[in-house]
Amino acid sequence: MSTIQDKVVIITGASSGIGEAAAKELASKGAKLVLAARREDRLHKLQEEIERNGGKAIYKVTDVTSHDQMEELAEYALKEFGKIDVMVNNAGLMPLSPLHEKKIKEWDTMIDVNIKGVLYGIGAVLPSMRERKEGHIINVSSVAGHLIGPAGSVYSATKFAVRAITEGLRKEEYANNIRTTIISPGAIATELPETISGSELKSAIDDFYKIAIPAESIARHIVFAIEQPSDVAINEMIIRPTNQEL
Ligand code: NDP
Repeated sequence: MSTIQDKVVIITGASSGIGEAAAKELASKGAKLVLAARREDRLHKLQEEIERNGGKAIYKVTDVTSHDQMEELAEYALKEFGKIDVMVNNAGLMPLSPLHEKKIKEWDTMIDVNIKGVLYGIGAVLPSMRERKEGHIINVSSVAGHLIGPAGSVYSATKFAVRAITEGLRKEEYANNIRTTIISPGAIATELPETISGSELKSAIDDFYKIAIPAESIARHIVFAIEQPSDVAINEMIIRPTNQEL
C-alpha cells in the first residue's frame, strides 16, 4: 500500500498552480485533502474534480494572512479527518519591483502571505503533530530563496525567510518525529507572474517564463517527499527547468 494512502494533507494555495497540481496528484494516491485558498469557486471545482476521480477532498476558504483562519483550518481538518499528517504551506505571491518604486503595499502583502502565512500554518498544525509525535511540514520557497536579483529583493527576502524558518523548525522538531521539507522551484508555469504590477517588468518575466515547466513537476516532488518511509526526511529540494540558468 502507498505510504500516502489515507494521509491527511492540508494544502494552502490549492486554488491554482502548484497547490492545485499537488492536490490532484496526492488525491490520486489516496490522500485525504484539505484544500485552502481564498477563491471558493476554484476550490469547489477542484474538490468536485477530485471526488469525480474517486479521491477524497474537503475545502475551507482561508486567507493565510489571518492567524485565526489558519487555526480554524487546522481545527476543521482535525474535526473532519481526526489528524493532520502533512501541512503544505504553498500559498504565495511574487509582485516583483525595484525598491525605489516604493510599492509598500506589495512589500507588505508579500511579507504577510509568504512569511507570516507560513508561520501561521506551522503554528496551526504543530500542537497536534507534537502530541502524536508524527507529522510532516512542507514549505514552498523558491530558487529566489537561494539567489537575489534586481526587483526581487523583497520576494527573495520572504523566500530566504521560508528556508530559515523551515531549518529552525527542523532543529526544534526532529526529535518529535516531525519531518520538514523545503521545496525551491525554478520557473513553473502558473499564475504567479500575474501579481507583477509593472508592465515592463511583467513582460520581461513573461519572456523568462517561456522556459517554465508544468506545475506537475513540483507536485511529483511533493509526493516524493511525503511517500518516503517515516524515518527518511527529504529536507530540501531545488527543482528547475533543465534550461534555466539562474
Ligand atoms: P499561483 O499564483 O498559481 O498560486 C498561488 C496560490 O496562492 C493561489 O492558490 C492563491 O489562491 C494562493 N494565495 C495567494 N494569496 C493568498 C492568501 N492571502 N491566502 C490564501 N491563499 C493565497 O502560483 P504558484 O502555484 O506558482 O505558487 C505557489 C508557490 O510556489 C508560491 O509560494 C510561490 O512563491 C512558489 N514558487 C513558484 C514559482 C513559479 O515559477 N511558479 C517559482 C518558485 C516558487 P487565492 O488567490 O485563491 O487565495
